[in-house]
Amino acid sequence: MDLQLTGKTALITGGTAGIGLEIARALAGEGSRVVITGRDRKKLDSAIADIKASAGADIIGVLADASSVEGAAIIAKTEPSIDILVNNLGIYESKAFGDITDADWSHLFDVNVMSGVRLSRTYLPDMLERNWGRIIFISSESGLAIPPDMIHYATTKTAQLSIARGLAQLTRGTNVTVNSVLPGPTRSEGIETFLRSQASDPSAPIKQIEAEFFATARSASILQRMVEAEEVANLVAYIASPRSSATNGAALHAEGGLVNTIA
Ligand code: NAP
Repeated sequence: MDLQLTGKTALITGGTAGIGLEIARALAGEGSRVVITGRDRKKLDSAIADIKASAGADIIGVLADASSVEGAAIIAKTEPSIDILVNNLGIYESKAFGDITDADWSHLFDVNVMSGVRLSRTYLPDMLERNWGRIIFISSESGLAIPPDMIHYATTKTAQLSIARGLAQLTRGTNVTVNSVLPGPTRSEGIETFLRSQASDPSAPIKQIEAEFFATARSASILQRMVEAEEVANLVAYIASPRSSATNGAALHAEGGLVNTIA
């Protein structure tokens, strides 16, 4: 299926690694002009080279921290008009509720929620004006199936679902859509640190740690393995495309059946 993404400009926050990098690769491969953000020039350049070697060549990097007010302003100035916004940037950690400080709460909220809020506020009016656009929030299965050791993270991921649904309602009667994608535990740069931090033996081989994680912390997973970032990117590419025009305000799962609900 041709996803009809040629000529569209897509901005992906936190696009230098993990799920963001694979989303950038998928959209570049489908012919989009791709813009990724990152805080480190070398990491940005290496992600760009990686994508150019395997997918489309029309890709640039914006050196900016998408979680800050200043970073959002740099991004908006560099790319004033885009077709597809993927609010991918997000951080996570395992921490007992009693140990999560006010500063931890605020930091996670800034990175995971406000990054997407600010960029959506920037780009949604222009998309509505041009009567076409896609905003996609990369939430998490943790936003629905709350892990007791990540309540702060889960809260930010539930908040993203509310924001996406609310914004979708502002697109009534237009060709703009706003949706969320919920990955499950996905192989990425950040996940190994996370998995080790909550394993019974943090120095064990990663395969063993993953097996323990699915036997205990995520035993509800039907997939019983890590999701690959490319599997999440495949869903994002579809929902970013003009082909997905009847899907708006939805929370779409790519989490291996971990969330035990039908709706
Ligand atoms: P990741 O590999 O941990 O990180 C991706 C990029 O985020 C990094 O390359 C880094 O880019 C940037 N970043 C990291 N910490 C940051 C900070 N404090 N401030 C600003 N930027 C920072 O990400 P991921 O695991 O692919 O996750 C991507 C999204 O998917 C997140 O929203 C996450 O919540 C969601 N998700 C992930 C999983 C999973 O299991 N991996 C599961 C469900 C949902 P620079 O250093 O270049 O700036």
